[in-house]
Amino acid sequence: MSLLYYFRGMILKFFYRLFVHFEPYTIERMIRIYCRDIHKTRNGLCPECKELKHYALSRLDACPLLPRKPVCSRCPVHCYKSDMRNKIRNVMRYSGPRMVYKAPFLALIHGIHMQFKSSR
Ligand SMILES: [Zn+2]
Repeated sequence: MSLLYYFRGMILKFFYRLFVHFEPYTIERMIRIYCRDIHKTRNGLCPECKELKHYALSRLDACPLLPRKPVCSRCPVHCYKSDMRNKIRNVMRYSGPRMVYKAPFLALIHGIHMQFKSSR
């Protein structure tokens, strides 16, 4: 019985590591899609989106639910300040569905991550 728990813990750890590893790439990709389509930026990001990306990545690093963090949209903490929260919401609303065909691998990882809850 305890061996089962041990393996279950190992598998969970593996999955959470995988999710956390790919989250910065997912956020970056979503902001890039949004900035290119909505702000018509051809190369890289506009200053506003650059700031948003920087903010989002710093929030991710400081996530209090690590290592077993849930997806941000289902997080009970909500660590974003309100203007950034609105901005990232718009980005996710626009880019979320487009991720399925623009970055299917990241979308798949995120889709699996959504099934996992925070351990706390
Ligand atoms: Zn932009």
